[in-house]
Amino acid sequence: MKIDKELSSYVDSGFPIIYINSFEETKVDGIISSVMGGRKGYEWNGADGFCEFKTKQSMIADKGLAETLKLLCADNELERKFLVLKDAHLYFDDPTVINCLKAIAIKISNGLDAAVIIVSSILKFPKELEKFITILEMDYPDQNEIKEQIIAFAKEQEVSIADALLEEMSMAFKGLTEFEIDNLLAAALADDGMFTRSDLKLIFDQKQQMIMKSGILEMIPLKERPEDIGGLENLKLWLDKKSKVFKSINKAIEFGVNMPKGVLIAGVPGCGKSLCAKVTAQMFAVPLLRLDMGKIMGKYVGESEENMRKAITLAEAISPCILWIDELEKAFAGVNGTGNEVTVRLFGTFLTWMQEKTSSTFVVATANDITKLPPELMRKGRFDEIFYVGLPNPDERKKIFEIHIKKRRRNDLSSIDISSLVSKTEGYSGADVEGVVIDAVENAFVDGSSALTTEHIQRAIENTHSLSEIMKESLTNLSKEYENRHFKSASK
Ligand code: ATP
Repeated sequence: MKIDKELSSYVDSGFPIIYINSFEETKVDGIISSVMGGRKGYEWNGADGFCEFKTKQSMIADKGLAETLKLLCADNELERKFLVLKDAHLYFDDPTVINCLKAIAIKISNGLDAAVIIVSSILKFPKELEKFITILEMDYPDQNEIKEQIIAFAKEQEVSIADALLEEMSMAFKGLTEFEIDNLLAAALADDGMFTRSDLKLIFDQKQQMIMKSGILEMIPLKERPEDIGGLENLKLWLDKKSKVFKSINKAIEFGVNMPKGVLIAGVPGCGKSLCAKVTAQMFAVPLLRLDMGKIMGKYVGESEENMRKAITLAEAISPCILWIDELEKAFAGVNGTGNEVTVRLFGTFLTWMQEKTSSTFVVATANDITKLPPELMRKGRFDEIFYVGLPNPDERKKIFEIHIKKRRRNDLSSIDISSLVSKTEGYSGADVEGVVIDAVENAFVDGSSALTTEHIQRAIENTHSLSEIMKESLTNLSKEYENRHFKSASK
């Protein structure tokens, strides 16, 4: 539902306080005006104080928020009126503000024909008001709306834009608000007075900045390719199949194919799970967004769920994309049992989204210890598949050695006896093998050798404690657990 319709239906149904989370105040003013009908509007904001909503003309000079609310609380001043509050979050530690808002909210719940609308770019409210507040999030414009905005901007500035560039630009702007798009369009024109393909880089960089500022999602640059993963052939094959669906998603859906939901990749640390998440985005030819679960957890009431909702909305607005949730078990550990209320509610939001998701946001979740995850997450219908990544077998170790030697000493590869290295590295993780190569290359350099040799690498192996040496028992338990659950093996 569009935000104006949502707002109108909340007001008509007598929801007492509506919190619009946005920094586009002018746009929000327009939306509020469109749903006011014949009602009058008051506003309080930090700059003008208590004023008339549309004209911003001062009602009573020098009235602070607390005094304004006290005044409006006292009589029936608010009958058939809207009260719009801006910058109010700065005053939520004032008991008068909280008490007056609560009193007004109760009056509205009891039939007073009025609405309080809080507009703020920061989502923060006191616990006492929680049950009176309904949150509305500004929509991100879809690709067609973005195109219209670019065309209107170009017309206003009297510059032209080629169709192909319009298509690419509108795609690149997905996930940004109208306000941010306008700013970027102005910046794109500022350097040379026209729209060119070089502006796409500016958009991408700025978008990365804005996504970072959201504080919850991170846009990861794509460097890794399928050839950089040694082994894990089953998983790569499966991802390749899904990428074919994803790349022609409209045709696939029309044909009756289900929208791909996502994959859970679980298993031994340092064996390529993160690598696979990165390669998936490369294979699907879409951006990779990493969700930082640590940053999701907020300290105010409702903040964590709201952050989760924000991350999901942002990812959906940017879609098609990959949403990578790293260390999933850290986020949802303890949901069954010791988990606190917030974790359980967060988990609920995530599960419902996974279940009902129709957008082209493909989730790649990675986890080390699946025993800590709630079983609901692994039920059919959440992820398309769950893969287990174990320690690399000899064939895989051979490939991992080749990849990492080639990366650093391409010309020395043919003279190195990889088979002898493979037989000495039973129980090594992919990260262990990479570590051995890194050490050997450094030693070769320090020794003054002109090339990397088998001996250098053998020496590095002798000085390494492999993952299975360090975590022997827990690795055996983990692999038993995965076997019992019949997860698909990522390796052939
Ligand atoms: P963790 O659970 O500890 O985050 P992970 O399974 O996600 O580990 P990665 O971060 O993907 O492991 O791997 C660590 C590094 O080890 C990678 O950057 C990569 O260089 C190397 N590596 C691991 N597995 C492979 C592999 N199969 N092929 C090539 N390199 C690998």
